[in-house]
Amino acid sequence: MYQDPSDSPVHSPSPEHTTTTVERGSFCLARCSCGWSGAARRSRDRARTDAQEHLGAPEERG
Ligand SMILES: [Zn+2]
Repeated sequence: MYQDPSDSPVHSPSPEHTTTTVERGSFCLARCSCGWSGAARRSRDRARTDAQEHLGAPEERG
């Protein structure tokens, strides 16, 4: 388990879901401590939106 202090995680309502943004070349994608990862985006802001949706979405059977 590790956290990048330089990258502020999205404010998560649940401690079980800690989202961060990961840069992949010229793309950026969201990642969660639960193992979820968003699609590659061209902007970090988009990746954050993915993370927000993940946190806001009901955790049904994945
Ligand atoms: Zn999660």
